[in-house]
Amino acid sequence: QEEEKQQKKKQKLKKKQPKMLLPWAVGFCMETLERAGFEAYAVGGCVRDSLLGLCPHDYDLCTNARPEETAALFAEHTLVRSGEKHGTIGVVVDSQVVEITTYRTEGGYQDSRHPDWVEFVSCLQEDLARRDFTVNAMAYNPRTGYEDPFGGLQDLKDGVLRTVGDPRERFAEDALRILRGVRFAVRFGLTPEDTTLQAMKELAPSMEKLARERVFDELSKLLPQVSTEDLLLYKDIFVQALPALAPSVDFDQHTEHHRYDVYTHTAHVVGAMPPSLAMRWAALLHDCGKPATFQLDEEGKGHFYGHAELSAKMAEETLLELKAPTALRKQACFLIAHHMTPVEPDKRQLRRLLAEYSEESLRQLLVLQRADVLGKGTGDASGFQEVFRLLEEVLSEANCLSLKNLAVNGKDLLELGFEPGPELGECLNRLLEQVQNEELPNEKEALLTAAKELL
Ligand code: ATP
Ligand code: MG
Repeated sequence: QEEEKQQKKKQKLKKKQPKMLLPWAVGFCMETLERAGFEAYAVGGCVRDSLLGLCPHDYDLCTNARPEETAALFAEHTLVRSGEKHGTIGVVVDSQVVEITTYRTEGGYQDSRHPDWVEFVSCLQEDLARRDFTVNAMAYNPRTGYEDPFGGLQDLKDGVLRTVGDPRERFAEDALRILRGVRFAVRFGLTPEDTTLQAMKELAPSMEKLARERVFDELSKLLPQVSTEDLLLYKDIFVQALPALAPSVDFDQHTEHHRYDVYTHTAHVVGAMPPSLAMRWAALLHDCGKPATFQLDEEGKGHFYGHAELSAKMAEETLLELKAPTALRKQACFLIAHHMTPVEPDKRQLRRLLAEYSEESLRQLLVLQRADVLGKGTGDASGFQEVFRLLEEVLSEANCLSLKNLAVNGKDLLELGFEPGPELGECLNRLLEQVQNEELPNEKEALLTAAKELL
C-alpha cells in the first residue's frame, strides 16, 4: 500500500512538470528515430537543467537503435563517429552536433574518458540505472513525458544529491563520481543524502587510482564554482584529490597575522578569487609549501621563509602530474611564486613590474595578493585600492614601459660608437630606467645625448 502511495505521488509530480523545450535539431533527430520504429529520449544533464529552469549547454539523446542503425538512418548528414565504440554517433543538424547514444551499461573507467567496456542493452531503464546520481538519471520524450525510475524529480525538488543504487558500490565502480558529486552539489545547491556523503568521504582515498587528467578536468570544472564554505565542507574529499594540500589541514600558523590554519586560509583565498581557472588553481595551491617551511622563533612566532618558492615548486609538480595545460600551469606557478612580492602604491615600482611582467599577469597577481590578505581574517586589504588606482594611472599615461618602445634601440647606440656586447644592453636599460622615472623624455635626441655621456 505504501509503495502504491509512493507511485501515485511520483506520477503526480511527473505530470506537474512543464514540458521540456527541445531545440529543433534535437526534436528532428528524435522524430527521425521514432519514425523508423526506434525509441528516443533526451537524457541526463539536459533534463536535469531544464527542470531547474536552466538552459542546458548540450542535449544528449539515447535510443534502442544500435550505433550502425543510427548511422544508417542519418546517412545523409555529416556524422561524428569517434565515440561509436561506446555507442555514440554525433549527427550534425543545422551545424549543431546532436549526440545519440545506444542504451548501454558499462564497466570501470581506466583511461581518461571512456569506460573500459560497454554492453548495449535494450531498455531505457537499464541505461538510466548505470548513471551516477538520481538527478542525472531522468529521460524525456515529448509524447510520453518524463521517465524517472529513481526518484530524481523528488530529489531535485528536495535539493538532495543521491546515487542511483548503493553509493559505496557506485563510487567503487568509478571514484570520479565522488568529485562529480561535489560538483553537482556545489553547482545546484544540493545536499548529499547521508549515506551518499558518507560513502563519498569513505571512498575518497580510492580517487588515487584515477587517471590524473580525469581528476584535473573534474577539479577544473568544479574550481570556478566553489565557495569557501564548499571547500571546508568537502575538505576530506579535496585533500584526497590533491594530496599536496593534506599537510595544510589544521596546520596552526602560530602568528597574530593569521586567524586560520593553512587550509582554512586557503579556502578563504580561493573563495575571494574571481572564477578564472588559472587564478583559482593558483589560489588553491598558493600556500601548499607552507607547512614544510615552518619555523618557530624564540618568542613562539611562526615563520615560513621561502614558502612562495616551495609552493610554486610543489604546484608545478602537482599540475605536471595532473597533465594540466602548459599555459595554465605556468600562469598559476608564476602567481604562486610571486604572491609574496611586496607591491607598494608606488608608480615607479608599478612601471618596473609592468615592464617585467605583463599587464594581465600583474593584475592577476594583485588580485591574488588582495585575496591573500582578505583570507587572513585579520588583515586590511584597503591599501590595494590605491595600488589599483595608480596602476590605471600608469597605464593611461602610456609611458615608455619596455625596451621595445624606447625611442632609441641597439642599432642607434652602435652608430653612436658603442661596441656590441653587455655594455650596450646595460646602457639601454639605464636609459629605460631614467625614462620610467621621468628623469628623461622618451625622445630620440635626448636619449642619444644621455647615451653619449654614458659612452
Ligand atoms: P554537465 O552539465 O556538467 O555536462 P552532465 O550531467 O551532462 O553535466 P556529463 O559528464 O556530460 O554530465 O554526462 C552526461 C550524463 O552521463 C550524466 O548526466 C550522467 O547521467 C552520465 N554520466 C557521466 N559520467 C558518468 C559517470 N562517471 N558515472 C555515471 N554516469 C555518468
Ligand atoms: Mg553534459
